[in-house]
Amino acid sequence: MESRHQYDVIIIGAGPIGLACGIEAKRAGLRYLIIEKGCLVNSLYNYPLNMTFFSTSEKLEIGSVPFISHGPKPNRAESLEYYRRVCSSWDLSVQLYEEVISIDQVSQKHTVTTTKGLYVASAVVLALGFYDLPYLLHVPGEELLKVKHYYDEPHPYFRQNVVVIGASNSAVDVALETYRKGANVTMVVREQAIGENVKYWVRPDIENRIKESSIQAYFNSTITKITPGTVEILTPNGPMILDNDFVLAMTGYQPPFDFMRKCGITFRNDEFNTPEYNTETMESNVPGIYLAGVVCGGLKTNKWFIENSRVHATMIINGLRQRFTQ
Ligand SMILES: Cc1cc2nc3c(=O)[nH]c(=O)nc-3n(C[C@H](O)[C@H](O)[C@H](O)COP(=O)(O)OP(=O)(O)OC[C@H]3O[C@@H](n4cnc5c(N)ncnc54)[C@H](O)[C@@H]3O)c2cc1C
Repeated sequence: MESRHQYDVIIIGAGPIGLACGIEAKRAGLRYLIIEKGCLVNSLYNYPLNMTFFSTSEKLEIGSVPFISHGPKPNRAESLEYYRRVCSSWDLSVQLYEEVISIDQVSQKHTVTTTKGLYVASAVVLALGFYDLPYLLHVPGEELLKVKHYYDEPHPYFRQNVVVIGASNSAVDVALETYRKGANVTMVVREQAIGENVKYWVRPDIENRIKESSIQAYFNSTITKITPGTVEILTPNGPMILDNDFVLAMTGYQPPFDFMRKCGITFRNDEFNTPEYNTETMESNVPGIYLAGVVCGGLKTNKWFIENSRVHATMIINGLRQRFTQ
């Protein structure tokens, strides 16, 4: 382990919001460091290759760096290019491929232990995102290689029997894209209809494909078993066995609650497991540990996104600046 480095603030996570925090810390003249376990904007890097953001590009801007996309809305490749440019133009201090393992409080300071070293900081920002922990199906056969919790592109599924699980935006996008690239798609949906939050411009497309039976859909249905050549499902009309080559489980992701608990963060007793924090300062119940970005919503991972949580960076760093100048 390296020796201890002293910082005013350590930001964990180099997603868009962690980067925004780094920029504000740099603007404020604080000694800061961003630590990221993967590549820069690791979550965005792992999004489907052909995805398009629902936000227009200016809503994803941070640090006053203009984001101009070729189409009406930016795609994944443009967003990676953009955040690389932000990082370079602000010359941010980011350490990549270094995972934070724990944060411990020692006499009003925080010791941050990573896979590569030890750091000490007066404050820590958790901008951890939610894209690393998929909800598992907990059914026999889930461990088979044909079961995917992340989707990248449609080509491998050409002429394959694909089951898409879920009815959220991701599931609907995956069902439509694989269907249009020649897959035989069946959706298995626990609820009684396509999700309420599905983008309004996509909803008619999926509903009409289901109506005309181009895509099969079983609502109020759950998957019970996966074998190399089949999936077994339970529908309102009883159990069924479907021929199957791939299962694309688009069942959502959750924030790293265990890590947060280990840091001392407590959670409200609500249905979303919302972490405790002061909504004006973003400081959690642990003095000196702040929350930023999507992680603030707990299980409600669509509450905070890039557009509406960029502001967390200024809220946190303005507060810290005042604290350090007192
Ligand atoms: C398909 C899709 C489309 C979307 N489209 C939009 C859109 O159009 N507009 C919009 O505003 N939002 C959109 N979102 C949501 C948006 O991408 C997220 O809300 C956003 O990434 C949140 O940023 P963040 O910095 O809080 O978290 P993330 O971007 O998830 O960043 C968190 C980072 O923390 C790192 N990390 C986690 N734990 C550790 C650790 N222990 N040590 C070190 N590093 C760690 C992760 O590797 C990750 O890089 C979309 C999401 C998806 C899935």
